[in-house]
Amino acid sequence: SSNGTSESKPENYTSKLSADQTVNLDFGDPTLYEEYWKKMENKCDTVIPGSSSVSYFSDTKNFCWFLEPELETQIRKLHSIVGNAAIEGYHIVVGVGSSQLLSSALYALCPKDTPEPISVVSAVPYYSPYPALVDHLQSRLYKWAGDANTFNGEKPYIEIVCSPNNPDGLIKQAVVNKIGGKEIHDLAYYWPQYTAITAPADHDLMLFTASKLTGHAGSRIGWALVRDEKVAKQMVKYSEITSIGVSKDAQIRIAQILDFLSHTCSPDHPIESVFDFGLRRMTERWDRLRDAIFEANLSGVLRLPEFPENLCRHFKVQNRARPAFAWIECRADEIEDLESFLRAERVLTRNGKSFGSTAKHARVSMVGDDATFHRFIHKLSAININKQN
Ligand code: PMP
Repeated sequence: SSNGTSESKPENYTSKLSADQTVNLDFGDPTLYEEYWKKMENKCDTVIPGSSSVSYFSDTKNFCWFLEPELETQIRKLHSIVGNAAIEGYHIVVGVGSSQLLSSALYALCPKDTPEPISVVSAVPYYSPYPALVDHLQSRLYKWAGDANTFNGEKPYIEIVCSPNNPDGLIKQAVVNKIGGKEIHDLAYYWPQYTAITAPADHDLMLFTASKLTGHAGSRIGWALVRDEKVAKQMVKYSEITSIGVSKDAQIRIAQILDFLSHTCSPDHPIESVFDFGLRRMTERWDRLRDAIFEANLSGVLRLPEFPENLCRHFKVQNRARPAFAWIECRADEIEDLESFLRAERVLTRNGKSFGSTAKHARVSMVGDDATFHRFIHKLSAININKQN
């Protein structure tokens, strides 16, 4: 079951395949998007000549010498079309997923001569891998210090802000706001299929990833938009030391995918874009989930977050968020632990405790494949909370 350390858990995946009818909604593998890319047939195939990538370097004139120029071009183009992030005056650092960039950002933001590790905080409920990501190497530079809401240290700190937030899908701002504090804004889900794009984000350090944008989690490409050149250079140094850069093949492939997305997401393009597809599918799934809870008379028992309506600059309509995860709160007194309750019904979710919250909460992935999602809805409709007494 859930230990919250990783988004991908191969052992659960295996048991999902073998244990009949167990529905695994624990990890956020974005397989929803496979249907879209299959429909595109060979429109987005990448051909990589045998002679390419015979060098570590992509652009020796760029401070981020392992960043493929074409990927930088496509990242800037997509952000300016969608309007979700300021790009003027920002440096781009590419990473092995945004996970590597989280580590490199922590490294870059910490003074190297600090007498004691800098506290790293994030508001509960926070993305469950953050604590392990911060503490697994027991760094002398930084240490996990838990919930940003209760942080009252007077010393320098780093706050990780995830918006829209994994797990609850809500738009978040920094909560500590003290002098000497630094922020990392994890914007993995700030794309129009999940939430209204209300303004270009313009924080000092912002992280994005292809994983939840187009579903290409396996390409392991993320990028950071960094205002301060010194910080960006430190992040590059981290990547030099840990992986001597990032796969050029993967960057070329994602550049092509982003280019395709930029073209298809213009309003008059005949091909449905991944944003349109994502919006349509996510809206359907959220409607189904709300309907199933209502129809099973569970509305008073299983509560979902409420999302306000906002004007989306990309879709040019008012809409409510339809996040990549459903953060369910159980209001039934007799159920202390929602994740174990659902596990007994053969529905695997991630326990609220993994996010610094309580076992009354559980997180459900909304971005898996269709068959799994429909089996989940089917099981939910059949759940009878009273029979557990
Ligand atoms: N941040 C958040 C909030 C996420 O949900 C994820 C993926 N589940 C990541 C970072 C890491 O994504 P990746 O390393 O695939 O870019």
